[in-house]
Parts: sequence; C-alpha cells; structure tokens
Amino acid sequence: MNTTRRIGLILLLIFLLPALFFSAYEITTLNRDEATIKEIYEKQLEAILFSANQYSDDILNSWISKIEKGIEIDSNEEAVKEVKNLMLLNESIINIFKYDTLSKKLEWFSKNIPDDSVELAGAYPIVENSKPIIKQLIEFEKSGFQKVEALRLNTVEDYVALMFKPKKRPEEAQIIGIVVNPAFFIEDILGPKLQQIAQDKFAISAGRVDVGRVVYATYDSSYQAQVQEIMIKDLWLLPNYYLGIGTKGTSIETIISERTTTNLYLILSLDLILILGVVLVFRNVKKEVQLAQNKSEFISNVSHEIRTPLALISMFAETLEMGRVPSEEKKNEYYSIISKETQRLTNIVNKILNFSQMDASKKELNFKPMSLTELVNEVLNTYEFHLQQQGFTLISHTDEEVAINGDKESIMEVVINLIDNAIKYSENDKQIEVAISQSQGFALLSVKDSGVGIPKNIQKQIFEKFYRAPTGDLAKKQGTGLGLALVKQIVDLHRGKIEVKSDEGKGSTFIIHLPVS
Ligand code: ADP
Repeated sequence: MNTTRRIGLILLLIFLLPALFFSAYEITTLNRDEATIKEIYEKQLEAILFSANQYSDDILNSWISKIEKGIEIDSNEEAVKEVKNLMLLNESIINIFKYDTLSKKLEWFSKNIPDDSVELAGAYPIVENSKPIIKQLIEFEKSGFQKVEALRLNTVEDYVALMFKPKKRPEEAQIIGIVVNPAFFIEDILGPKLQQIAQDKFAISAGRVDVGRVVYATYDSSYQAQVQEIMIKDLWLLPNYYLGIGTKGTSIETIISERTTTNLYLILSLDLILILGVVLVFRNVKKEVQLAQNKSEFISNVSHEIRTPLALISMFAETLEMGRVPSEEKKNEYYSIISKETQRLTNIVNKILNFSQMDASKKELNFKPMSLTELVNEVLNTYEFHLQQQGFTLISHTDEEVAINGDKESIMEVVINLIDNAIKYSENDKQIEVAISQSQGFALLSVKDSGVGIPKNIQKQIFEKFYRAPTGDLAKKQGTGLGLALVKQIVDLHRGKIEVKSDEGKGSTFIIHLPVS
C-alpha cells in the first residue's frame, strides 16, 4: 500500500469512522430522549395539578375542623355563631346544613340569602335520597377515617354539598354538608393558588365539564388561542369540574421537536465539517507526500543531468590534455563540445538557483513597463539558428505591439522555458508556433508545439514543483521538473495565469495571460 493510501486509511479509522458511529448512535437516541423528556414533563404537569387538588383538600379540611370546633361547643347558640362566622368569611360557602340520619331532619345554619333559600329547599330530597353515601360516610368515620363526599344539588349554579361525618360527637348520627358555589370556590380560593403555581411558565385553567366552559384561567383568555392544553385532570372536590394545564405559546411537543431538529442539524453539520476537515487534511498530506516523492526523484534527475555533461567535459578535456587529438579541426570540435556542455551545466545550475530564490521569495522583481513583443522577438532571434539546426520550423505571429508591466529578466525566463520544453518534447513533427495578442486587458503569449502532448490526468500536476511525467515518452526526456513551476511562479507574481491545452500525441499549447500595462 502506498503512503498516501495508508494515511487516508488512518484518517478514516481515527477520525471519520468513530465520528460517524457516534453520530449514528446520537441520532438513534434522539427520539428516545425526546420520549423521556416528554414523559418527565408530563409527570411534572401531573404533579402541579396534584398540588392544586391537594390545596383544595387542605382548605376543605380547615373548614371541617372549624365546623367541628364550632359544634363541639355545648351551647347551641355559640356553635351556630362559629359556623356562621365561617360562612361569612367565605363567599363560596353558600350554606351549611346538619342532617340527622335518625330523625331525617335537615337543619340549615342559614346564611340568610333569600334567593338561595328557595333553591336550597330542593336540596332536601337529594340528601334524603343519598342514603348509601351517608351510610358509607358513617362507616368510614367509625373505622377512623373521615371521608368527604360531594353531592351535586342540581341547582342553576351547580351547587355542591360537601358532606362529612364530624369526628366529634360520634354518638350523634349527624352528617354535615357544606354547600359550595363551585365557580366562587375556584375563583376565590383556588385561583390565587393556581396563579402562584402557574407563574409565567404554565397556563392553568379550571372549567365545568357538562357545559364545557372555562370558569377560571391563570392567563388572559384573549390569548387562549396560544395556550396548548396538554393535560386535564378531575378536580377532586367538585365532581363536575376539571383542571387543565398547558404551556403558553409554543407547546412542549414543538419545543422538543425543535430541539431534536436543532440537535440533528448540529450533528450533521459537525459531521460535514469533520468530513471536510479530513478531506482537506488528506489532500494536504497527499500533496506533501507527492512533493516529497517529486523531490527525491528530482535529486536523481539532476544528478543524472549533471553527470552526462560532466562526463563529456572530463573526457574531452583529458583527450586534449594528453595531446592525442589528430587535427586542429577535431581540437576545435572538442572545445566546442566542452563549451556547449559547460553551458548546459550552467543552465541547469541557473535554473535551480533561480527556482530556489523564487521559491523562497528572495528574488526581487523589477517591474517596469516593457514591450512583450520586443522581448519575445529578441528571444526568438537568439533561438532561430538553434531551432533551424535542430530541424524545427518556427512560425511566429509576433507583430502586434503589446505592452506589459513586468520584470524583463523573469519574463524572458518564462519564454525560454516554454520554447525549451517545446523543443524537448517534440519528436518527428518539429514545428513551433509562437504568438502574441491582446484581449480584454490581458496580453496573451502562446507557445505551441506538435510534440508528444500531455495526458489529461497529469495536466494540472505539471506546474507543481519537481513534477515530471512519471511514464511514457515524456519520462524518457531529461529534465529537472522545475521549469514549469518556475514559469508559474513568475506568472503568478505578475498577477497573470497560465493554461495548457494538450492532446496526447498531437502536441501542446501553453498560453500565458498577463495584465497589459
Ligand atoms: P522538465 O521539463 O524539466 O521535466 P518542466 O517543469 O518544464 O520540467 O515540465 C514538467 C513536465 O511537464 C515535464 O516533465 C513534461 O512531462 C511536461 N511538459 C512540459 N512541457 C511540455 C511540452 N511542451 N510538451 C509535453 N509535455 C510537456
């Protein structure tokens, strides 16, 4: 397995897989969490309604103990006074009666409300008819447990008689009934408590079951549309009444599902960031690995490139030194080989030096307005003889005057590198075409050959440092892999761009775009 693949696999195993497993786990548990939260919330709401019911019971118990205290007093007058006091203080108590189960006599403590007295007259038959309930109350009391039973009195206001057997005076078969106006009870007694429980967080309401009407609500009823009732429970004390609780505005379902969606998005975006990060790291690592490979190839390439001219120079110099050269003509030929090879060495060394300076941003460019046309023609003139000698046809379209703002020396380097490559990578069809033009604020310089061409898959890489085509005809040619990297660096510094159009076997065209001055 090559290094890049190995690193890719490591990244996948260390970062991506655990993260993806974790996300999958989190996403599957999100729904479960949602159900748990909902359950906890509902329990809380239930507890709130429970406490409201408990409070009503406490109130009733306090009334009962006051009444018991009253009737304990022997003097009938005093007892009545005590009970009447209770009635006076609590508007929701309409009246209180005493029912003797033996004599079947119903006696009112009387609050003296004339309208009510008519209605309350109808209470007698109802109480009379509730023998089983009364029997139960007595029995419960006997076994030490005081039960309260609510009896609806069928009045317009839906009065309820809260009946119990007093603990005191057990010898008397007496039942006490507190007649309560449920609406008043809810509003005056339970209301403040509901407000206190609800605060800003909940919306609690109490209503009448048979007519489906809200009697009291802790919120402004004009906002009712915004209140989502989640739970409804019986009001223990008053048979025909319920307590409802909900949230103001958004319902808990919405809150939970919003939370789930947010979590889902968070997990997914986290994964996306992680995947992007891993891809980015992988690409960088791949680049670095490639660079390291290119570098090591570069060393062997350069050594090879240097060794050939060095061997030639040393061989011809030795022959000359030994005086074994037969003719003056041969001597001159050897001198010219030595000089040519020395030039080749110098070129290689210069290229490397130039590249390293440019790469370390140490090279200072001297930007000046200059004629690109003039510069290119100058280079072509120097090359003309060389090209002719090697059997190349040079076609040039370099008449249009195009001016740029640039560093003359490095732009010259660009042109030379491109022409050198065109020569190097041409085989039988030896034709080079150089053209200059101007379009949309850019000077265009193109160098076209009919050589071996560049495979599509490596066209992007050829501009990388030290990169050389790894296989095929291209790899047979000698080179350092620095030429195009240097060209690109120079073009970039001139705020230009370079592109290549190439078909394998048909040739390549390198086009340089530089801003005109
Ligand atoms: P070198 O030529 O020293 O190898 P360069 O940086 O100049 O390095 O070029 C990089 C690679 O691009 C070359 O190895 C070659 O494969 C390819 N290349 C460059 N110019 C041409 C061209 N004109 N025709 C075909 N291939 C080219």
